Amino acid sequence: MREIINPFNQAVIAKLADATPAEARAAVRAARVAFDSGEWPQWTPEERAALLTRVADLLVHDRSDLARWETVDTGKTLAESEIDVDDVVSVFRYYAGLAVRDHTRAVDAGPGVVSRVVYEPVGVCVLITPWNYPLLQASWKIAPALAAGNTVVVKPSEVTPLTTVRLVELIERAGVPAGVVNLVLGAGPEVGPVLTSAPEVDLVSFTGGLATGRAIMRSAADTVKKIALELGGKNPNIVFPDADFEAAVDHALTGVFLHAGQVCSAGTRLIVHADLHDEFVAELVRRAEKIRLGNGLAPDSRSGPLVSAEHRAKVERHVAAGIAEGATLLTGGRRPDAPELRAGFFYLPTIFDDCRRDMSIVREETFGPILTVETFTTEDEAVELGNDTEYGLAGAVWTGDRARARRVASRLRHGTVWINDFGPYLPQAEWGGFKHSGTGRELGPTGLAEYQEAKHIYENTAPRPENWFATEDDPSGPES
Ligand code: NDP
Repeated sequence: MREIINPFNQAVIAKLADATPAEARAAVRAARVAFDSGEWPQWTPEERAALLTRVADLLVHDRSDLARWETVDTGKTLAESEIDVDDVVSVFRYYAGLAVRDHTRAVDAGPGVVSRVVYEPVGVCVLITPWNYPLLQASWKIAPALAAGNTVVVKPSEVTPLTTVRLVELIERAGVPAGVVNLVLGAGPEVGPVLTSAPEVDLVSFTGGLATGRAIMRSAADTVKKIALELGGKNPNIVFPDADFEAAVDHALTGVFLHAGQVCSAGTRLIVHADLHDEFVAELVRRAEKIRLGNGLAPDSRSGPLVSAEHRAKVERHVAAGIAEGATLLTGGRRPDAPELRAGFFYLPTIFDDCRRDMSIVREETFGPILTVETFTTEDEAVELGNDTEYGLAGAVWTGDRARARRVASRLRHGTVWINDFGPYLPQAEWGGFKHSGTGRELGPTGLAEYQEAKHIYENTAPRPENWFATEDDPSGPES
């Protein structure tokens, strides 16, 4: 039995059995049978949409319960977990709406031809999600996959599986046919490759670390599966001197320290104009030192612990590397002293100044509460710094000059760019990364298209022979 731990106090909150490789294979087979010969493929788009709407309604009903479980499993504050559940509801409702939209495209192919492009489900989809936003990430994959008519095998992180277990129960309660949604628990390195290499699987959608993403691509290559990857980022937050100071400081703080920095789109790289640097960074440090760490369930906590001891050890290695490389530690850089936080995997909000783009803390994704500060003097330099990363998930630009904001936004090679904001996403707008941040998109119409195959149906309404090849013996042919 695997023990699931509350990262606030290391209490065991659940015990779950890991799937064996044989059970993982059985889940794939169940999904295959349900797709090839079950009742699910006969469901109309309207019936699928109604199912998704029922799931949304059940989520609304269980909101408090789900949010509590998310908090004790991940450590994030209850307020964040409640926002997550609300977002998940919106995602299910959004894809219920898209499911019934007829995406068929008529193609004008001239007289005597009716040509249409139709969109069909891909088939069996393996959906692998990370530990930082378990419920949210599961919904970004499950809702469009079901809207499109696929069957799925869901593999949550072994670290935070509890709300995914509950979500699958809700989908079953909403009336999904047997075999359509299958859950596989267990350690990624053990059951993951069984799922990603299975010949019966048509698509793998994964959110997590870059190294795992690469391994999944390799594992899926032999069977040429469709792949969608969301692999994190090292996201620039560019601040010009004419930005609204209060708003920019506030969002810079939330952008990096929300959920203890365990956010793929966290604004970990502050790139601030040299003229603004001193005032801006001093204010950030002042506010970072006031962030109240604590139990996610306590209403006055503003940030919880890191997810696990292993993850905190990784954050500590990154901080040590930053110090060794010569960055100036302005605040944090250690665990908090408060005795009531000792049992949890807490780490203080940390700010490094005098950072250079070649430092590992500027280049590597830490996934923790660490902000690095770089400075610039020209717009070109700001853009160049913002793009100097192997990742390309998200970035922000802060300025009172709208023309400049739009110029910079169009030059940043990131999948999402915020202007005078940091962090929002919408179910209707695509989410995903350039470069090593991944392939494919979640959310929006493209998030549905990932789970569809386009099929061209060409109908000749007045067939006639073309006689390209001779119908009688051709005297110039090779036989003559
Ligand atoms: P992983 O990439 O290892 O985990 C993500 C998911 O993949 C989990 O469900 C995991 O299962 C599963 N997994 C692990 N190995 C395999 C495999 N070989 N085949 C198939 N699935 C697998 O992330 P980590 O938890 O190890 O975090 C590593 C780093 O990744 C973080 O420090 C952070 O930098 C980044 N990350 C990025 C996220 C993002 O949103 N883009 C989210 C989480 C992490 P299990 O957890 O059970 O091992």
